[in-house]
Amino acid sequence: MAKTLFEGYCTCQPTSLVRETFGNTQIYGNKAKSILTKATGFIAAYDFTLNPYRGCQYGCSYCYAAAFSPNPKMRQDWGNWVIVKENAAEVLEKELEAWCNKNPNQAPTIYMSSVTDPYQPIESKCGLTRHLLEVMYPYSPTLVIQTRSPIITRDIDILQRFKRLRINMSIPTGSEIVRRDFEPRSPSIKARLNAISKIKQNINPAKGFVPKISITITPLLPTLPEDEAAFIEKLVIANRVVIQEFHASSSRSLVAGTRKEAEHLKQKYQWWYNEPVTYNTFKDKLLARLTNVEIKEGKDGFGYE
Ligand code: SF4
Repeated sequence: MAKTLFEGYCTCQPTSLVRETFGNTQIYGNKAKSILTKATGFIAAYDFTLNPYRGCQYGCSYCYAAAFSPNPKMRQDWGNWVIVKENAAEVLEKELEAWCNKNPNQAPTIYMSSVTDPYQPIESKCGLTRHLLEVMYPYSPTLVIQTRSPIITRDIDILQRFKRLRINMSIPTGSEIVRRDFEPRSPSIKARLNAISKIKQNINPAKGFVPKISITITPLLPTLPEDEAAFIEKLVIANRVVIQEFHASSSRSLVAGTRKEAEHLKQKYQWWYNEPVTYNTFKDKLLARLTNVEIKEGKDGFGYE
């Protein structure tokens, strides 16, 4: 099959033109052959992963998903391009129907998303993730949504129709200054915590189902000593907190922390990473102070149950 040549990322005639620019991001469109992908590795417990987009505007420095870019130039430019799977909702409907015919007594388990943020800024304009939720909920899936975006609050009305929903809000650090270093384009920590608060306040148990809420501190980035206590205190808003070590090593291409940018930043925070007990110390503090919150590590924390 001929490779797609993206405008701006190839020297010859492109086969995929920029559909629009959104902020600094080049937006392309494509037709997906399939939208539900068999889940493997870290999230193999799910039947499927679901990625409405390819690429991610947040462009976090440690993002392993950059490794799945269509070509090296786009990998290098991670965060500045997004491919919208324009027909995702129709394909999803067909794939869910096929699943239900084959497995009449078993609703699928879906992890959305593994290599993009389903609520990155372009979602506010194109509403693709919302459309996918509308297609999904009649099939009663077990759904986990992984995001760091307050845009998710736009969809509270539909989220409350899911009987088995867990929302994983990524907050890898309690310090804004660290957040701005490692993920400068992402929403502030405060905006993410406010989003969780808004979801909790606005879902009416009499009218819908209350989702489980996790905060995923994955990978664990440094939190400055002066911010630590207040950060941990705020985590009580979640049912579960998940932590995972930050492996900034180029030899592990599919774990967080693989990009050069992240490795350079890690040098800046050597005082944190040089200390071998930092991870365990932080975990112990979570265990001691969040007695009513489930604390999980790595793979264990990413399940629905
Ligand atoms: S939000 Fe998630 S998918 Fe997007 S760049 Fe950051 S880590 Fe990667």
